[in-house]
Amino acid sequence: MRIIDTLGSLRAKTVIVRVDLNVPLSDGVITDDGRIRASLTTIRELKDAGAKLVLISHLGRPKGEPDPQYSLRPVAERMAELLGAPVEFVPETIGDAASAVISGLSEGDIVLRENLRFNAAETSKNPDERLAFAQRLATGADAFVSDGFGVVHRQQASVFELAQILPSAAGRLVAAELEVLQRLTVDPARPYAVVLGGSKVSDKLGVISHLIERVDTLLIGGGMVFTFLKAQGHAVASSLLEEDQLDTVRRYLADAERRGVQIVLPTDIVVAEKFGADAAFETVPADAIESSRFGASGLGLDIGPQSAAAFAQVIAESKTVFWNGPMGVFEIDAFASGTRTVAQALTDTSGFTVVGGGDSAAAVRALGFSDDQFGHISTGGGASLEYLEGKTLPGLEVLA
Ligand code: ADP
Ligand code: MG
Repeated sequence: MRIIDTLGSLRAKTVIVRVDLNVPLSDGVITDDGRIRASLTTIRELKDAGAKLVLISHLGRPKGEPDPQYSLRPVAERMAELLGAPVEFVPETIGDAASAVISGLSEGDIVLRENLRFNAAETSKNPDERLAFAQRLATGADAFVSDGFGVVHRQQASVFELAQILPSAAGRLVAAELEVLQRLTVDPARPYAVVLGGSKVSDKLGVISHLIERVDTLLIGGGMVFTFLKAQGHAVASSLLEEDQLDTVRRYLADAERRGVQIVLPTDIVVAEKFGADAAFETVPADAIESSRFGASGLGLDIGPQSAAAFAQVIAESKTVFWNGPMGVFEIDAFASGTRTVAQALTDTSGFTVVGGGDSAAAVRALGFSDDQFGHISTGGGASLEYLEGKTLPGLEVLA
């Protein structure tokens, strides 16, 4: 993979940098600026090298048209604070005003264009539409640096087509993330445990079949647990469940058993009356979720303390741990214990630990842990998982 150095001197060159500034926002306030911080290494390096920087990113999932709640303006402000240097916000992505700003840049200047996904072409399934959009993004630029690790698994205009139009290379963040993923896949130190949770169940089930061939232990928490428990014949009341994945999950369980890979499921679950901070809740055995006092309407929102302790024990005995997906609805304090215990176990072990996923990273920070307590906190959940699945990532392939 080509990295920045291959682009030669960038002094006075206009360089487009695809960063991933897709930070969580609550009422316009950034609740976790980890992705902004992670983008600064490359930005500082290019600024110091005298480049004129044009940053591009998406934020959230607007529907292909401008939507003020997904504006990158607050992100430009936060980045300027963190950098201690001005970051000019350009309120459009492509167009005459954006072009005028870009042609007026001096060495070391930084601008951030408005949300790429205010244009439907960015994520279009039609390659011609994406190419046309990428060409407009490339107007006036000399080079392209791809540093949005969270999107390198996407075949999108600002990730894939743009890299083909301009001289291009990976930035420092993408290079660093890739190094970590290689450490997780090429001869990882054993025992190797993977902890999976979160809410995007079907997204994450895919990675399991690949991991079963590579890891020693798979610990399962979060929303996907209930599809596993159901596959084992237990009723899960109104918890998250993907009926259409039950056969797949049964196959995974059989496959793991044949290979001698341990799949560890929770033995107790925190079941709530409803989804909310004021919900009543109780901890019940994982095979008796429907016997909680909330009956068939109960919702499993966290792994129980007994399960969390068992997970922590496995983590303590592992030399390599990859974790993606909170163990429960950590945003609500009553359902954050499982996630907290697992995070604590990762920080306590002397093994190499990697946390991947936007919400997982936000969770460990929200629970008061700091980045340097982990081996690595990845900025890309989906990208990491697809890499671990053995898939080729379009945004990396294009830089080869
Ligand atoms: P990541 O961004 O780290 O990949 P996901 O996006 O898959 O993680 O999932 C994060 C979300 O999963 C969190 O908002 C959390 O509230 C939710 N979650 C975790 N456990 C459960 C559960 N048992 N039921 C519903 N949602 C859950
Ligand atoms: Mg997420």
